[in-house]
Amino acid sequence: MLIKNATIYTETEVIKGSLAIKNGKIEQIFDGIPDDLTLYQDIIDGSNLNVIPGFIDTHIHGANGADVMDATTEAISTIANYLVSEGTTSFLATTITQSTENIERALTNLAQYENEASGAEMIGIHLEGPFIEKSKAGAQPLEYIKKPDLDLFNHWQEISGHKIKTITLAPEHDQGWHFTSALRKAGVNVSAGHTNANFSELDKAVKHGVNQMTHLCDAMSGIHHRDIGAVGLAFLSDELKAEIIADGIHVDPTMLQLIYRNIGPKRLIIITDAMRAKGLEPGDYELGGQPVRVTEDRAVLDNGSLAGSILNMIDGAKQFFTLPNVSIQDIIQMTSVNPAKQAGVFKDKGSIAVGKDADLLLVDHDLNLKMTLKKGKIVYEE
Ligand SMILES: [Zn+2]
Repeated sequence: MLIKNATIYTETEVIKGSLAIKNGKIEQIFDGIPDDLTLYQDIIDGSNLNVIPGFIDTHIHGANGADVMDATTEAISTIANYLVSEGTTSFLATTITQSTENIERALTNLAQYENEASGAEMIGIHLEGPFIEKSKAGAQPLEYIKKPDLDLFNHWQEISGHKIKTITLAPEHDQGWHFTSALRKAGVNVSAGHTNANFSELDKAVKHGVNQMTHLCDAMSGIHHRDIGAVGLAFLSDELKAEIIADGIHVDPTMLQLIYRNIGPKRLIIITDAMRAKGLEPGDYELGGQPVRVTEDRAVLDNGSLAGSILNMIDGAKQFFTLPNVSIQDIIQMTSVNPAKQAGVFKDKGSIAVGKDADLLLVDHDLNLKMTLKKGKIVYEE
């Protein structure tokens, strides 16, 4: 296959040219159009379009009526097949605080899940909770919150088939940081979230291995001038990556701008944190066994807490793209490069380079999605 005559955002430069795909991988990138077009079975005309790497959503619970906690092959398949329509070609299936039994059922299901050619690729698991702080639970059900338990985590890692790549926890409950250090040694990202720790507690936690923040600003302490809190730490600490829900509701667009200006594209990871109502009509749904009311733009619990989002990755990318001084390269950094590195798949994904998976998007100059390719196969077309 060949995508011809497009603006291609490769890992290192922007090329007006063509991109050849073979066996699901990027085979070659040319300036201009190759002389002999008869070599290619399928040719996609990329005139007036940009080719960028597929999005990697490292925090997503559900879509199109299905949730990771449904713990069925069908649920994961429904999510995966929906996600390509918003430009997501890989994702971390994200669990929620629930009973041990329900978490284990979800992990067992994900361990045996086989990716389908038609959908986004499940590249691992994000375990959100249950080791979090009750006062910052947000939409995580209180009754199942636990103290960090390394034996339990190791058991879960085992039954997940070692697919847990990231865990969200409240560092203030990890006494002596034994849990955090053990996970970091095992290559798992430890993301501080649903936490009430102050700046100095979190600063120590970062020195002991915490390397990420979960949905920055939401379910954590904000900036105060006498304690700059979790958000202030993310501004200051160069080691930290920070997830951000870019729907303009979880974090106001002016705050997105302040965050972007201070943290910059190298450390931000755009996520959706979407729940099962994404892609469906407004109405009554559930999250973690709790009723959720979904309107045109948001999902809320009875108590008014935001209950995940109904955001699409492409809309999250556009939200950032409207901010001053944000280029397409910056969007790629926050939606593909950073999440791929954090999930440990940058060797194969997260940028456009010869030999990498042909997980590609064709978008126009306003970032409207025209086509999604997953491993060289067209899986979505506008
Ligand atoms: Zn979440």
